[in-house]
Amino acid sequence: MCSLSAVSGIENVEKTLYGLVFSGQNRGDESTGFGILLDNRLEVLKRMKSEGGIIKAYLDLKKEIDGNYIDRGIGQTRYSTSGKSDKRNAQPFKIKGKSEFIISHNGTISNSKELKEKYGLKCFSQSDTEVGGCVIAQEKDLIEGIERLSENAVGAYNLNLLSRDGRVVVFRDPLAFHPLWYGFDENGGLLSASENYPLYAVGCYNPIELKPGEGIIADGKNVEKFSIDSPGKKECFFEVIYFMKPGSSCGGKEVSKIRHEIGSFLGKNEDLKDAIVVPVEDSGSDYAEGFAEASGLELVRGLMKNRGERVYMDPAERSKQNFFSRKEKAKLKHVAIPKKVKDKIVLVIDDSIVRCDTSTGIAENLFATGAKEVHFRIASPPQISGCIYGLDHSKKAELAAAYCTSGSIEDFIAKRTKANSVNYMRLEDLKPVLKDNNDHCFACITGEYPTRVPEECRSAIEL
Ligand code: AMP
Repeated sequence: MCSLSAVSGIENVEKTLYGLVFSGQNRGDESTGFGILLDNRLEVLKRMKSEGGIIKAYLDLKKEIDGNYIDRGIGQTRYSTSGKSDKRNAQPFKIKGKSEFIISHNGTISNSKELKEKYGLKCFSQSDTEVGGCVIAQEKDLIEGIERLSENAVGAYNLNLLSRDGRVVVFRDPLAFHPLWYGFDENGGLLSASENYPLYAVGCYNPIELKPGEGIIADGKNVEKFSIDSPGKKECFFEVIYFMKPGSSCGGKEVSKIRHEIGSFLGKNEDLKDAIVVPVEDSGSDYAEGFAEASGLELVRGLMKNRGERVYMDPAERSKQNFFSRKEKAKLKHVAIPKKVKDKIVLVIDDSIVRCDTSTGIAENLFATGAKEVHFRIASPPQISGCIYGLDHSKKAELAAAYCTSGSIEDFIAKRTKANSVNYMRLEDLKPVLKDNNDHCFACITGEYPTRVPEECRSAIEL
């Protein structure tokens, strides 16, 4: 997952772009990059987290601008799902073909190998974003390029482009898997971000969600819209479950409210008595509040989170330079507070169990500090199929629940985590809370994909 940011026709470009990427880090922070047009040159500045990430990228940007006036630019923070987490694959990319532009992207183009072959593309990185950019650059006109990409690409591709002639293009893919918003400042300048929350953070309080297949072309303060046919929205349900900031909105509702409602549903149906409700910070917090309210059980902050490093998406693990396993890191990350959990029946509330390392580490920590029983209550139904649209569980083999071949997934996962019980929100109960009108993607839950599954993504559906 990644965060996109774009501005056009505004004052203080570097500070605003910094504010937007800073507020987008919930969607990824392995690298940060900016794209600007200065003295008729397209310039890209990017830094890996290990090189100082956002703050260094910002200082590079400031140095590059060096007091010159610019009023437009794009920004991106990356969480690698296609291509390794290294500088070569960091975004944005500069692309030169029949057209010339800088591109950044959120989502995964799942048939990028096919596209590379079809167009004979020579790419410098392993990134699907570069492939998408090269397809767009087959056309002289940017919008025709985006149309060509839409006709040929399978997957998710929210895009920001900054063209050589100074236009900023913001585009949400026709199935609208991931969110994309825009708004205007008080002087009519355009601001855009993946979620509405970052727009609030920089003082833009009138955000509008782009429709599926909708795009904006901005030249300074002149803004035009375009659209590409959409077969209908298929918004990733996991955005609300985990990725989006609690203060962002989805389907007209605040994300924290939706999470609260899911927690309430689980709490209302809870049979355990004399238990305490303990959230996994922060992913379980809103769910736990709803759960405690509806069940009448006490909410206890019995798990502390050591912040700083991401465990789930640790790039060091992928590059095999890691000294700790994910499970070891999860144990270090979520520490139980003995005084609060000793001798208690603990209901641990979290958003999801994916590979099972986090929950196993948490259960071990709770038992080690004297908890009498540990029960997991989980907001997402179990994932049994890989995501080919941009979540970092693209392989079926990574999904703990996919290995359950007989009996219930609940019992299978309880055994694996050594917890006393596990309960998930069921899909049929989740859909009404999300007000699903057949407009969400639940492929990782059901194995039913809203697009074809390209051959290069077989590992999503095969163990
Ligand atoms: P695990 O079961 O060990 O894979 O960890 C699951 C936890 O990681 C969840 O509770 C989330 O907080 C977080 N998580 C789940 N899915 C993702 C994802 N696609 N990217 C990053 N973190 C995730």
